[in-house]
Amino acid sequence: MPQLDVLFEYVADGVYLIDPETSNIVWCNKAAHQDLGFERHEVLNHSVLSLQKDVVGMPQWQEIAEVIRNHSPYTFVGRHVHKSGGEISVEVVTTHFEFNDDDFFLSVARNVNKRVALEQEIISHHQSIWFALNEASDGIWEWEISNGKVFFSPQLKTMLGYGPDEMDPHITTWSENVHPDDRAHVIKILNEHIHGLRAKYDAEYRLKNRNGHYVWVHDRGKVYRRDDQGNPTHAVGMVQNITDQKFMQFQLEALAANDVLTNLPNRREGEKQARLQVALSKRNEQPLCLAIIDLDHFKSINDLFGHQKGDDVLVFVSDLFQKTLRSTDLIYRWGGEEFVIIFPNTTIEQARQISAKLHESFQGAQWENIGVTPMTFSMGISCFPCLEADFDVLIKNADTAAYLAKEQGRNQSVFAEKS
Ligand code: GH3
Ligand code: MG
Ligand code: MG
Repeated sequence: MPQLDVLFEYVADGVYLIDPETSNIVWCNKAAHQDLGFERHEVLNHSVLSLQKDVVGMPQWQEIAEVIRNHSPYTFVGRHVHKSGGEISVEVVTTHFEFNDDDFFLSVARNVNKRVALEQEIISHHQSIWFALNEASDGIWEWEISNGKVFFSPQLKTMLGYGPDEMDPHITTWSENVHPDDRAHVIKILNEHIHGLRAKYDAEYRLKNRNGHYVWVHDRGKVYRRDDQGNPTHAVGMVQNITDQKFMQFQLEALAANDVLTNLPNRREGEKQARLQVALSKRNEQPLCLAIIDLDHFKSINDLFGHQKGDDVLVFVSDLFQKTLRSTDLIYRWGGEEFVIIFPNTTIEQARQISAKLHESFQGAQWENIGVTPMTFSMGISCFPCLEADFDVLIKNADTAAYLAKEQGRNQSVFAEKS
């Protein structure tokens, strides 16, 4: 059995035996002096104060010694001075004991440099995350689903023009400020995510700010905690102000010649081209027909299958029209589920044939591919020179004829007569 001081020699932490009266180090192990860069003799019989950065002078030592005696074992977290002048972070546990009527302190010093560095890294990391979430980004929310409580980050409040103590931290504060035209749609998307039908909540909508104006936002979030039954309990998300992008997009769309959904030329482009075509027909003394098409009972698609399906149908019928028309015919998405076709250099008889072909193509189309029951359309057609008229009169007459087609039972074409 080796002697105790031999065993202590191999303890990885620094071990010191200290005389409380003089503060001198009576004995230390290898780790103690090596950690500090000293030889053993440079440490032995020196005051423990010489190791310290935070304790100066005997009066302070005596106070500390008193505290150690009363609170043994006493833990001190501080800095030791390395021989090179650097510092070592240490956690020192000191125990007071008596031996042969003498007082001793036994200190065990652990080098915690790595731990302190790690802690500091975590703190600064935490600070940068906090900064990213609350200052640098646009806005953060955190929603306790069970009770409706919501944390709105300072930046989110700033974005909407509110002060730090405004905005009642409740889900209704948010929902009541979503634009009425967007609310049903946004809440549907949110609910679908909450109930597991969507991987993420992701929506663009208008949100009312403090002075009653609406800003466009891109709002994204996710459930991040569930209870034992798997019910969602907490969600977190991020709101970005996209008002500027939206207005840019609207401006670009207004300037664009094509409709975004169907990629057909839009009404603005259509009116320009139609005027040109009517003028050309007059000059060249050629016939021209102009048709307005309105899909029958289109609203029921949206109502039964949702807006997305409605959009799919619009794309599907746009293709159908284009496949059936001749390459010289010009078709436009006039708005909603209405289309206008210009048939240059086409007589009323030829227009009747094309109209019949269009109705047939609808009957024969593979509606099952997009999952809806077969659809039909109503069409009004006006002709030049049957009507000795300009574009405005032609379109007005075609519109009246389309209205008649609806009245007469839909799924048909009506030709405008000379009034
Ligand atoms: P009718 O036979 O009398 O024409 O009936 P309808 O249901 O087609 O007529 P209505 O004009 O009442 O409905 C047109 C609908 O088209 C209303 C509108 O919600 C929908 N709609 C308009 N534009 C779009 C669009 O871009 N996408 C979708 N999905 N629906 C649209
Ligand atoms: Mg319509
Ligand atoms: Mg319609």
